[in-house]
Amino acid sequence: DIFSEQRLNSTGVNVHDSETLSQLQAAIESQHNKPFTACSIINGREIAGADFITAHSPADLDRVVGRYSHIDESGLSEAVDTAQSYFPTWRDRDAKDRCETAMKTADLLEDNRDRLLYLLRHEAGKTLEDAIAELREAVDFCRYYAEQAEQLCAQGLKMPGPTGESNYLYHQGKGVFVCISPWNFPLAIFTGQIIAALVTGNCVIAKPAEQTNLIAYQTIQLMHRAGFPPEALQLTLGPGKQVGHFLCGHPAIHGVVFTGSTATAQMINRNLVNRDSREIATLIAETGGQNCMIADSSTLPEQLVKDVIDSAFYSCGQRCSALRVLYVQSDVADKVITMLQGAMNQLKVGHPRDFDTDVGPLIDQAALDTLQAHRDKMSKAGRLLEAPKLPNLTGYYVSPQAVEIDSIQQLKEEIFGPFLHIIRYPAKDLDKVIDDINSTGYGLTAGVHSRIDDTIEYVVSKVQAGNCYINRTMTGAVVGVHPFGGMGFSGTGPKAGGPGYLHRFVHEKTITNNI
Ligand code: GLU
Repeated sequence: DIFSEQRLNSTGVNVHDSETLSQLQAAIESQHNKPFTACSIINGREIAGADFITAHSPADLDRVVGRYSHIDESGLSEAVDTAQSYFPTWRDRDAKDRCETAMKTADLLEDNRDRLLYLLRHEAGKTLEDAIAELREAVDFCRYYAEQAEQLCAQGLKMPGPTGESNYLYHQGKGVFVCISPWNFPLAIFTGQIIAALVTGNCVIAKPAEQTNLIAYQTIQLMHRAGFPPEALQLTLGPGKQVGHFLCGHPAIHGVVFTGSTATAQMINRNLVNRDSREIATLIAETGGQNCMIADSSTLPEQLVKDVIDSAFYSCGQRCSALRVLYVQSDVADKVITMLQGAMNQLKVGHPRDFDTDVGPLIDQAALDTLQAHRDKMSKAGRLLEAPKLPNLTGYYVSPQAVEIDSIQQLKEEIFGPFLHIIRYPAKDLDKVIDDINSTGYGLTAGVHSRIDDTIEYVVSKVQAGNCYINRTMTGAVVGVHPFGGMGFSGTGPKAGGPGYLHRFVHEKTITNNI
């Protein structure tokens, strides 16, 4: 039995042991000799267009990480047709087989650690700490969903009934799912979406973010090697406006799993509704946030500042869970802001290859432009705090910044990068703060720093957020430990890495037998 032992999350790497660290670093960098090429994989065939696009590292634009090519419409149609005709076979396959293949995928991800860490570093610009955490999360998703699917799909659930009647509830795959994943977790979220759909008996057409096609291609190859049939899992590379648009408008699609911006999720929703199909498709969307933390005057400032730095600036602020607005009680605001400025000065912005780098690059020029425009706008609103040193490299580097503002209403959009907004509030205004936070309509993560139990309880009961964190960082949800996902403009649910996730991927079927 593959699940006989109690499931534990994957083990990491002890990077504090200098020998382990230097071996790991050498193993990662040695991957540079291999050229990375990516193309679509349809029905097991590699399909490349006429042109290849060169992928440069966001951490060092002089480094070519690889090249990839786009799919055309005939390739997309073939992907859908293949998935659609294979679906009944895949749905009826023994659920245990599918789960074992997911477990095998987890092992293969671990076996190919160095290559995946290389791509997380050079293609996605992730620091070593973030890259290791992401690989572990991908592995955890495989094992967690395999275990969950085995419970959900391998046998029917016996229901009560009158004498002479047997009742069973079964869970079956819905059909063809399109999985559209983001560049900020190009391995973990990519893997989590796909594995969840596959283990429950759905066929998958994967559409990764353009910025991270190379790692997506490597991951799909590992999934095929683990034993997922090529008909059940296709990879389509190309711009969202073409590939995503085509797939989400196709009448043969039964569901879309999407992580990205709220605006794109709304567009996908409209596409699904306007298709030439009477079926109401499933949409599982995990979108943006305007994540806030409330710190009252009882907070421990040293801990608060450390958690703010982690939540707002680590991972270059490129997590949808990241802290965007810190509400700090006026009595302690000066002290906290001074300490925060001190801590920001200590941050090292640098190449993610260097172990002492705290903040790596943004993903691309567009992200840099958006952040710079926001900075220019905000510098008129108040005094900017920043950590000014940037590395001497051509990459999309930006220094972490913070600005004091008067109200959250000054922020219209989610700003995706290391940019923190600070708002002072008098103790008597706690309810107004909570109302303001809820009025954004987003509801992804929220933090509270306080040593007063009543305040903590009050805040977390009133704040509309999917994940509330008390006296700690607001990022880094662990699979099976912190089920992750938002409400309102932040997503449809169910939560990734939680016990309810797979239910949205299945139809329920009741079989009543009058014996
Ligand atoms: N699950 C991640 C976290 O807890 C965030 C996922 C995302 O950025 O989409 O930090």
